[in-house]
Amino acid sequence: MSSFVPPIRADLVHEVPYGAPQISVPVLLNVNENPFDLSAELARAIGGAVAGIAPSLNRYPDREAVKLRSALATYLKGESEATVTSDQIWAANGSNEILHQLFLAFGGPGRVALSFDPTYSMYPEYARDTFTNYLTFPRREDFAIDMPVALAAVASEKPSIVLLTSPNNPTGTALPLGDMVAILEAGLAVNAVVVVDEAYIEFRRRGTSSALELLDRFPNLIVSRTMSKAFGLAGARIGYAIASKQLIDALRIVRLPYHLSAVTQVVGITALQHWGVLQAGVAILRAERDALSDWLSGQGFTVAQSDANFLLFGKFVDRDVVWQSLVEQGVLIRQTGPQGWLRVTIGTQAENDRFKAALLLAPGTEQEAGR
Ligand code: PMP
Repeated sequence: MSSFVPPIRADLVHEVPYGAPQISVPVLLNVNENPFDLSAELARAIGGAVAGIAPSLNRYPDREAVKLRSALATYLKGESEATVTSDQIWAANGSNEILHQLFLAFGGPGRVALSFDPTYSMYPEYARDTFTNYLTFPRREDFAIDMPVALAAVASEKPSIVLLTSPNNPTGTALPLGDMVAILEAGLAVNAVVVVDEAYIEFRRRGTSSALELLDRFPNLIVSRTMSKAFGLAGARIGYAIASKQLIDALRIVRLPYHLSAVTQVVGITALQHWGVLQAGVAILRAERDALSDWLSGQGFTVAQSDANFLLFGKFVDRDVVWQSLVEQGVLIRQTGPQGWLRVTIGTQAENDRFKAALLLAPGTEQEAGR
């Protein structure tokens, strides 16, 4: 055997692949998936659409994903009353790839990406991969962005990318439109793109706004969305960005050729045609979230305000003990966010009931919750 040591980049040597534990238990409430299986009708339609293009899989797919992007434009008109053309939309393999491409296009050595912790834990990885300096500033106790801190940070650090996440993961909290406007203006002053990651936006409560409302006013705004959550298509890997054509064209420079398979493109188009039905599932999850939030508060837990399909709740002296007890009872949630907090994804009513029953039996919850 030769003593070959792979010439891996020195900064990657001690890194481990990102990801929540994939443990096989009956109730999976750990990665913010949509708990509802696709309807038989949609599953059949997807099967038919894939069969339809299968004979032409000898050809590369449409590099520009034109049909999918125009179907997304139609969807955004209905969902957010946004008037955007297909050349203001870009699609990729999940919003993870969208965000990665954003870092490729707008980050890089000597540049800064700025975010507000706690937030989505993949951002530092995109920064690492693209040699972008990653700076993060703490949120307030209620997980809102501390605006004086944020505006000062944008002005002094002069980032090329500012990451706003609304609703934020893992906290569930949404960013008020006025705060977004102030950060977009501060970003313009230092020539930064401001990314509003709206992975969970379809779950927003009445009165919470989408950043799409600001698209006409801010040439530096990029909104990132996904079909993994509200559409229940996490397995299909479809995410998209909405911005000015100028910014979208920058993403087209860094994408790999034919990055989005023909199969993925028709799956996305077909699911978009069924949004009406899928929307009903989103409404159920919103109601379940609000009910679970009330129940947790009623039990004496602290619960962060959520516009997403998950809740961050606490506070525990030892959250790992609670998490482990839930796993042993067949319920998988996530140890994420600040120490003392746990995150639970909203499941079906039956799954949420299992979670509640398991939580009541878990050791280490009484004293912290003050019950
Ligand atoms: N942004 C946020 C805030 C997320 O929580 C996630 C997934 N957990 C993503 C982006 C990426 O999701 P996907 O690649 O499935 O679109």
